[in-house]
Amino acid sequence: MLETRIAKELAYISQAGLARRITELYFVNPAQAQDRTGKTYLVLASNNYLGFTHAPEVIEAASQAALKFGTGSSGSRLTTGGTFIASELEKRLADFKHSESALVFNTGYMTNLGVLYGLLQTGDVVFSDELNHASIIDGCRISRCKVVVYKHNDMADLQRLLETEIVTGQRFIVTDGVFSMDGDIADLPSLAVLKKQFNAFLIVDDAHGVGVIGNDGSGTASHYGLTDVIDLQVGTLSKALAAEGGYVAGKKILIDYLINRSRPFIFSTALAPATLAAANAALLLLQTQASKYLDSLRANSRLMRRLLLEGGLNVVEGITPIIPVVIGEAGLTMQFADRLKSKGILVSGIRPPTVPRGESRLRITVTAAHCEEQLRQAAQIITALWQELKHGEKKEG
Ligand SMILES: *Cc1c(COP(=O)(O)O)cnc(C)c1O
Repeated sequence: MLETRIAKELAYISQAGLARRITELYFVNPAQAQDRTGKTYLVLASNNYLGFTHAPEVIEAASQAALKFGTGSSGSRLTTGGTFIASELEKRLADFKHSESALVFNTGYMTNLGVLYGLLQTGDVVFSDELNHASIIDGCRISRCKVVVYKHNDMADLQRLLETEIVTGQRFIVTDGVFSMDGDIADLPSLAVLKKQFNAFLIVDDAHGVGVIGNDGSGTASHYGLTDVIDLQVGTLSKALAAEGGYVAGKKILIDYLINRSRPFIFSTALAPATLAAANAALLLLQTQASKYLDSLRANSRLMRRLLLEGGLNVVEGITPIIPVVIGEAGLTMQFADRLKSKGILVSGIRPPTVPRGESRLRITVTAAHCEEQLRQAAQIITALWQELKHGEKKEG
């Protein structure tokens, strides 16, 4: 019986200490959230890198759009839901990404499904980094073409696979720009060389790259100063851009094709006007005041990385605001995260299958909206608790 099967599976998940629970919080500002009881937490776990969710310009744009145009879009972009706010946002995104054209989807997840499902065909082979986001993995799965997974950011491995794999159709390479769990950056210069050598089509997902890396905050291409290398740049409106939705930017012919062939785009109701207006205002803010926000984000990232290192934690090196702290065992990692929560600090505990066994970690993120005092206090609590947990571990053998 189905329910027996499900109950068994749930019991297994629970016994393995892997049960997932939905949290209930609301943000009082980009750095702090409250639960139902009114307890306030310092959040070091959000993707709201620039704090734009609470920027007055963004809130004003969203409110005005809802007042003027209503709450829902009432149809798909191809029927009655095609507001001009979406087109305006797409123009801005294309410009920001130095591309001819852009297309908005309803989530970043759907964008990857829509792009990969829409573009890839039987006979094509897609080469995918082993640490790519789940939406890329799922997009590859439903694409009907062969998927070849290469070792994380390992260009020698990718080259070997590109050489040995027999391909009758098109070669695709797909990668995260900034990897969501490790916070490291794809090796775009090497990807550019391999792409040319093997005539491959390159897709980069900058969900954690936009608003984070590059002088103008536009992501991986800008970070390396390689604007013409990536064929399609995927991204989300839900992280630094403080709204909901995803997008893809590239040549107009590709975008025109996706409008006609991408089912997740065609068969879903368009985003609400307020959501689109929020993303548009957030992007405008990033375009006009990039250095102000990026400077504080980067200063906060550097400070937090340094404080945690000085506190003896095993921080994975990097430059992004995604700061992985490797703890090792899954139980200890979750205990660490739970204890921090009781002390008023929210960080994510990441365990298998998201990361390999023995590499469970805290994933700490900072934003431009944290102040130095908050970070110093948090680092102190985290390092003190780590000393306690580490010694507790030893005693128990
Ligand atoms: C978060 C994320 C997505 C999904 O974006 P949503 O808008 O949250 O659906 C896709 N790709 C990567 C790399 C991400 O980190």
